[in-house]
Amino acid sequence: MSYKLPELPYSYDALAPYIDATTMEIHHTKHHQGYVNKLNAALEEAKLEDSDLEGLFGKISKLSSGIRNSGGGHFNHSLFWTILTPGGSELPEGELAKSVESTFGSLEDLKTTFANAAATRFGSGWAWLIVDADGELKVTSTPNQDNPLMDTAPDQGTPILGLDVWEHAYYLNYQNKRPEYIDAFWNIVDWKAVEKRYLAAKS
Ligand code: MN
Repeated sequence: MSYKLPELPYSYDALAPYIDATTMEIHHTKHHQGYVNKLNAALEEAKLEDSDLEGLFGKISKLSSGIRNSGGGHFNHSLFWTILTPGGSELPEGELAKSVESTFGSLEDLKTTFANAAATRFGSGWAWLIVDADGELKVTSTPNQDNPLMDTAPDQGTPILGLDVWEHAYYLNYQNKRPEYIDAFWNIVDWKAVEKRYLAAKS
């Protein structure tokens, strides 16, 4: 079995003006495809072709940097594409909304905390909203292509929302203005998809 590049559930220009079509196309067909190719090669080299990625993340400290970087790259981007949608969606009233309110105070407070994590991640990496082992929501960030499923992550849990803050994700449109990219991100977050991931993580 080998991993494959997933199709995007929308066209490359569908997230404009918040993420431009050229960035989306390069990000998907070059960057993400590159992680898929390197992941398959790294798994073959380690004779781990039939492994489940999430299982490997739980012992990533014992595996090669190739599996860590490209496995994280494939998983993180696959998640990222699915929590975005043209025009965004409102946070549905329900379990996630209640938990956001009790943990952060309000959705706006969550956004502020998350944006701060994304803005202060030095160099390349990701900001995350996770469900931790106690079922609690938490905001965290990871360097490079690490993620909170990895046994190396300081804050571990199931990611339900992620933002790619590598320059390749925003530089064409925003250059060095990462905070403007982070602000724009909220216009295209699919909170219904985030809630689905929340309910799955809690079950
Ligand atoms: Mn990326």
